[in-house]
Amino acid sequence: MEQLAFLTEDEVRQVQREFGSPVFVYDQAGLEDRATQVLAFPNAFGLTGRYAMKASSNAAIIQILTGKGLNIDASSGYEAERAIRAGVAPERIQLTAQQLPEDLGALVRQGVLYTACSLHQLRTYGALFPGSEVCVRINPGLGSGQNNRCNVGGPSSSFGIWHEHLPEVTATAAEYQLRITGMHTHIGSGSDPEMWVHCATMSLDIATRLPEVTRLSLGGGYKTGRMSYETTADLQAIGGRIAREFESFAERYGRKLHLEVEPGTFLVANSATLVCTVMDVVDTGADGHVFVKVDSGMNEVLRPSIYGAQHPIVVVPADGAKRGTQTCLVVGRCCESGDILTPEPGNPEGLGSRELTEAHIGDPVAVEAVGAYCSAMCTKNYNSFPECAEVLRTTTGEFRLIRKRQTLEQILANEVA
Ligand SMILES: *Cc1c(COP(=O)(O)O)cnc(C)c1O
Repeated sequence: MEQLAFLTEDEVRQVQREFGSPVFVYDQAGLEDRATQVLAFPNAFGLTGRYAMKASSNAAIIQILTGKGLNIDASSGYEAERAIRAGVAPERIQLTAQQLPEDLGALVRQGVLYTACSLHQLRTYGALFPGSEVCVRINPGLGSGQNNRCNVGGPSSSFGIWHEHLPEVTATAAEYQLRITGMHTHIGSGSDPEMWVHCATMSLDIATRLPEVTRLSLGGGYKTGRMSYETTADLQAIGGRIAREFESFAERYGRKLHLEVEPGTFLVANSATLVCTVMDVVDTGADGHVFVKVDSGMNEVLRPSIYGAQHPIVVVPADGAKRGTQTCLVVGRCCESGDILTPEPGNPEGLGSRELTEAHIGDPVAVEAVGAYCSAMCTKNYNSFPECAEVLRTTTGEFRLIRKRQTLEQILANEVA
């Protein structure tokens, strides 16, 4: 059975009592520790670490991670604006987005750095800021992710400029007198480290054909174990190999490239717990299943429903009693058969029974490793459930509310009857 990650059983009960259910709890110490690890990424000629804030976008988390020295990778103009409002200096924000923000000009004039992710984006930027510097995102021709949904490189992925179109990149840059001083590749989330290193060397090959590039961003995508049997990428080992590649690139081409990395998952995944509550326990007979129903699910944690992702789940007896275990499925509260927290690993349509502490109605349940792509990527307001609250456990052990629970009035606020 999986264990609680950073909260004690008493703390889980305390959070449920004081902040209600469901609620995300973030661990400041864990976030800071991961930031330190990323900033220690081995490098040959300098490093900028960015937090890919789409993984979890609360201002408190942005402030903790940027406070440790990380900069920001924003996935939309709105994210860039959100980071600025959280107090991040615009010069520390790099915008790498699928959608051109309408206020691109205003963001860049404030100091936000821009990565053009398509030829159209490069032309638009060139027309706005001729004669300036820019970064381009290249699809190096190969991708790697924990599953096809998380793979954002290779011929089946629309992200970045296809590597065979470099002549058009160079021609567009010439047309607008742009200097391409940054190059970016982000090839997938949850990548196998070998694959990651391989893609990094492919990126260096491409950089040989963009002679003004001085900084190379290799994106994020470091594999992060959530279940006790899963492994986490060793950044020191990966980084050591990348640093050697940068050194030999410098020997061959006389260019000392500055390295950028921008993890999302690695920084936040294991530093959050969702505390929710058992609201019902039903079964479908001797040949069926026991279903533990919680007052959460895809409203807060969608990854199991779309990826077959696995998250540790721990039932915490409300009365503190020691209980036996039961084999069960854990499901959410939406009228949706895909609202399941225990799919078969890697198969969102399959069922993956778990051995858990026998659950009683009212027990708090901890869903672990929900820091990345959970709060930020949920089916908010489906079945009209309000967006849940978020809490931070500070380094001194206090619990601080960092996002209030939504009200029904707020759900309805923009409807025009
Ligand atoms: C999502 C994203 C990241 C972070 O990916 P993780 O797998 O969460 O580390 C980094 N860079 C870009 C451009 C992204 O879109």
